[in-house]
Amino acid sequence: MSLTGPYDPDNIFAKIIRGEMPAVKVYEDDRVLAFMDVFPQAEGHLLVISKASQARNLLEAEPEVLEDLALATQRLARAATRALQCDGITISQFNGTAAGQTVFHLHFHVIPRWADRPLAGHASGKMEDPVVLTGLADRIAAAL
Ligand code: AMP
Repeated sequence: MSLTGPYDPDNIFAKIIRGEMPAVKVYEDDRVLAFMDVFPQAEGHLLVISKASQARNLLEAEPEVLEDLALATQRLARAATRALQCDGITISQFNGTAAGQTVFHLHFHVIPRWADRPLAGHASGKMEDPVVLTGLADRIAAAL
């Protein structure tokens, strides 16, 4: 069901875009915003969203929005790799509740990976300290 339906303008990410909810930002321009995931699956886990689109998922996204997000995701992934010296990086994206999506505003996950560190669960587990997230965001932003 959640794969179709109207966009909820009061979803968490829409509120972050409007400045109604806090976020630890890594990068922002007029079309794209990247910020730290508060329930990180690994150190440096960040999210990349469109500020212009009301696509809830990849299936609904406009071509120019996909281009913006793909380029920003690549740039953020490169910066995270440089900043954190990770061994790999997972890019993930979920469409619909059945696929694991929990926030219905299109987004890409950028998740640094290390050979000796297991991945935490998706959208679960412990909320990270904002001070820790800010330190990571600053390091990644400096590597952009
Ligand atoms: P998904 O399940 O693919 O829709 O991903 C949503 C992601 O948003 C999850 O990884 C959550 O941990 C993350 N998340 C939820 N609320 C917030 C928030 N207020 N700030 C940052 N990340 C969030």
